[in-house]
Amino acid sequence: MTREGGTVDATSADEGMLSAYWQETQRLLAHRVQAASIFFLLFAGAITTLEVIYFPTRRSALLLTCAVYAALCVAAVVAVRRRPDRTFAITVAATNALALCMTAYSAAVHNRAEMLVLTLTLYLTGVVLLFPWGLRGQALGSLGAALGYPLSTFAGATTASPSVYGLAALSTAVGLTLTGAYLLERHRFAAYWRAAELERAQLFSAALLEVARALNATIRDPQALAEQMAACARQALAADWAALLRWNESGRTFELAAGSGVPAAVAEEIRTIGFSPQVIAPFERTLRRNGWVALTNSESSEPLAQTLLQRWRLAAFLSQSIMREQQITAVVSCCYVQPRGPFRPQERRLLAAIANQAAVALENARLMEEARAANRLKSEFVATVSHELRTPLNVIIGYTDLLREAALGDPGEQSAALDRIRQQSLQLLDLIQAMLDVSRLDAGGLRLNLEEFDLGALFASLRTSVPSNWCGPKVKVDWLNRGGAATLRTDRGKLEMILRNLIHNALKYTEAGAVSVAAEEVGDQAQVCFSVTDTGPGIALEDQTAIFEMFRQASATPGRDGGVGLGLYIVKRLSEALGGSVSVHSQPGAGACFRVVLPRQGPRTAAG
Ligand code: ADP
Repeated sequence: MTREGGTVDATSADEGMLSAYWQETQRLLAHRVQAASIFFLLFAGAITTLEVIYFPTRRSALLLTCAVYAALCVAAVVAVRRRPDRTFAITVAATNALALCMTAYSAAVHNRAEMLVLTLTLYLTGVVLLFPWGLRGQALGSLGAALGYPLSTFAGATTASPSVYGLAALSTAVGLTLTGAYLLERHRFAAYWRAAELERAQLFSAALLEVARALNATIRDPQALAEQMAACARQALAADWAALLRWNESGRTFELAAGSGVPAAVAEEIRTIGFSPQVIAPFERTLRRNGWVALTNSESSEPLAQTLLQRWRLAAFLSQSIMREQQITAVVSCCYVQPRGPFRPQERRLLAAIANQAAVALENARLMEEARAANRLKSEFVATVSHELRTPLNVIIGYTDLLREAALGDPGEQSAALDRIRQQSLQLLDLIQAMLDVSRLDAGGLRLNLEEFDLGALFASLRTSVPSNWCGPKVKVDWLNRGGAATLRTDRGKLEMILRNLIHNALKYTEAGAVSVAAEEVGDQAQVCFSVTDTGPGIALEDQTAIFEMFRQASATPGRDGGVGLGLYIVKRLSEALGGSVSVHSQPGAGACFRVVLPRQGPRTAAG
């Protein structure tokens, strides 16, 4: 719709509005036909009385004419009542018939044509004031009057002045009334358009308010929220049924999340089909481009739409995407069983607004769930950390008490106690360091310090930085640098932290056997793969994903004293920050192999 300079024309309104305006015009015309008939008959009565007084000889012609006037007026009122859809045509016909009747009377009694001009001018003025039928109606309704003057002079009416005067006067009257009809119509239409817009806006806000209320009431329960949304869309768009399809990232399909009024068989079928992006590619393209897809013709040329519409006995549907961060996360569809006209822009706007509300509600629900999860995690974190801090501290306090009370007389026992205290202190230090690393990672303050170095230098510094107490007496450590002096551009400190964590774990969980630390170039020398392999107890398949999460430990790892489940979480986060990945290959009882693959030229964003 366009509006220019505050005025509105018919081209700026949509089809629905024009048809409603036309209905309203017909209704108003039907109402005015009665009033106009009464006015006309009063007017005719007054003229007839004058005529009877001044021209008594015309009495019979007058009576006949009055009877015809009355018959025409009654016929018009009755016809309009019977066929209100034909009000316009009936009114045009009656208006012309009355004008021609006046002309016939004037010709029959040889009246002065100037009198007829005056009468017709008054008649046309009355018509334009009473009938809100615009330029077209006035033009059609003026035909009888416009022809009246020439016809009456032709049929015998007399003229005192040249007939061109009368013609000019009548033409002016017709022109003025046509202009009046046009202007009145323009203003009436503008007022109607504004009132309709206002009403629509009110309905729109009321519907949205209702949706917002309904969605807010269910925000704590994502399933109830989805169902509420489908119900709101169905109600607001008067659809036969509505469905909410949610994008499932892991399965890469759209799945039925909730429905309102969806026939059971259709719901079952949607659940079974699971629309993948390839299947609904044409829809997806339109959804991405417009945000919505509308189909009002069940004979769609798109084969999938055709099949589905026929299967589900649908005549039309309107779908709207729900977006989050430029991605389609869900689609809400309103479906209609009966054939219907094209969807009006305001229907599309309403569904889009509902989808927007829903997107906000879904996002709020997601954030609430995230906040709850974060809170849970924080509580777990505090509980775990307190527990992990208390155990070594108790050991340290116990041994220092024994030393203070000189309970350990033997210097060997004293030195063993001091060793225990030192070991527990180091463990505490490790824990605090790990926690600091995690909090730095979570705060997003991870700054990469890229530098170029060769694998030989890295291996040399790693070997010296591995504390001797990590390694049990029955464990052999092999350093296998297969990359030689190949260079790597990355954050060396973070890489060392990753490898130290993996080596520490391998040595911690391997009581006897070997631990090998290896590096080699892979992927056409674009990447470097570091692996830490041990002959320890291995990790069960069901634990291999969970161990990379915070505070998660494998259920059956023997000898895991002192761990808190942060090391591998840090390894994973750091590997990803460096543009690489970490994976584990293991079988219970057959050792474990952790592999970290990093790009040789550093992470893309940092490098780029
Ligand atoms: P922590 O070792 O402090 O418990 P990590 O995050 O480093 O925490 O490791 C998580 C869990 O993964 C460990 O508790 C252990 O169950 C398992 N795990 C890690 N490395 C190995 C390994 N080399 N061999 C066997 N299990 C391991």
